[in-house]
Amino acid sequence: MTTYRFYGARHSIVGLGNMVNFEIEQNEPFLPRLRDLMHRGFDWLLERDRVQVWHSFCALFYPHLKDTTHLESFYYDLLYDAAKRFSRQNPKRVVLESYVKLLAYEGRLHLEKSCYICHGPIGGQLALMRAFIPAHEECIFGSAFESEKLYDFLQSGASIELDELEVEHLYDIVLKGL
Ligand SMILES: [Zn+2]
Repeated sequence: MTTYRFYGARHSIVGLGNMVNFEIEQNEPFLPRLRDLMHRGFDWLLERDRVQVWHSFCALFYPHLKDTTHLESFYYDLLYDAAKRFSRQNPKRVVLESYVKLLAYEGRLHLEKSCYICHGPIGGQLALMRAFIPAHEECIFGSAFESEKLYDFLQSGASIELDELEVEHLYDIVLKGL
């Protein structure tokens, strides 16, 4: 939505990753004005580590969606659901699971057992490129994962079988861009 708003210290709730409720005041022939802003808070917003993960995740959506004129409710629902889960789950796992949902929704989930670079078959180990595209470890010089575990994760969207180190590596891949 393109609107205008006079910014000032009083309106700092318009910020990356904040969920706001608002009214739109039509202002023909100018841009509509954003007014009556209310911040919908979450109980984890005072926890620095969680907020940092949240900001990093939300920041990825702008470059991904900036050329989209019509946005389906999927993206709102995905982020809202993730925000609610942030308080009781490991935030990086929430990000990974949300990302797999996004890839599936956009038809970009790569489940084929061949390397994106050389097209050779994937064996017991694989590496993942940006957008979780499978490749050989030696073809992209990436971190190696156990193939079966990774395909299970991509298929189920559940990160429970992944250990903390795997979660960290996968999270770093997400940060390369959606
Ligand atoms: Zn390869």
